Amino acid sequence: MAAKKLTCLECAQVNRVPEEKLAAAKCGTCGAKLVSTKAIEVDFATLQKAARNDELPLVVDFWAPWCGPCKMMGPEFARAAGTLSGKARLVKLNTEEHQKAGQVYGIRGIPTMVRFEGGKEKKRQSGAMRAADIVSWVG
Ligand code: ZN
Repeated sequence: MAAKKLTCLECAQVNRVPEEKLAAAKCGTCGAKLVSTKAIEVDFATLQKAARNDELPLVVDFWAPWCGPCKMMGPEFARAAGTLSGKARLVKLNTEEHQKAGQVYGIRGIPTMVRFEGGKEKKRQSGAMRAADIVSWVG
């Protein structure tokens, strides 16, 4: 059975998980669940590690607390995370708290969604989206 590399979003440890055990998999270091039905808030270091290593698609919502459209999109992104659970991991990065991340990933406007897979950026999209549109965009 194929194993997938997944970065723990709590402690940033890279885990290897057999595909058929993804849904229940826990981090070998801190015990946190590796696959959630929620959109998890990450910091810059964790994001970089996950974007580089993860073998399950990683979808990042770059947002900030002062951004109105970001707030509108928040619940939609959360709903999409539930729908996509097990197929992709959806995470949020606060660009106000982690400004370096916005610079490194060249984020010019927010909200911006970026989809990473296999260590590479696959696509990005700016502007608020509804849950159903996020799900089909992630694909
Ligand atoms: Zn962990």
